Amino acid sequence: MTCPHCGEAARCVGDRGKGVTSLLRWVQRERHCDHCGSRGQGRYPWDQTLGTADHRLTAGAREVVSLTGIQEKLSAMRRIERCTS
Ligand SMILES: [Zn+2]
Repeated sequence: MTCPHCGEAARCVGDRGKGVTSLLRWVQRERHCDHCGSRGQGRYPWDQTLGTADHRLTAGAREVVSLTGIQEKLSAMRRIERCTS
């Protein structure tokens, strides 16, 4: 395995657990970890594929959270408009 960041050899160090919230429920899953000795960091290919590298929400759950936030802001704006008109 080659590290995609530095091109040095990366070795498999086994599976590591991570919990994420999906649209349906919280899910604990194991994912494969490659460790780059040059950078001293682990890499989780499935996190990149699923879009959960920097998040604990799946892509679908992030979309719903975002839409919910927009709806709440619009509701607040409508309440303000009613109070000020
Ligand atoms: Zn590297």
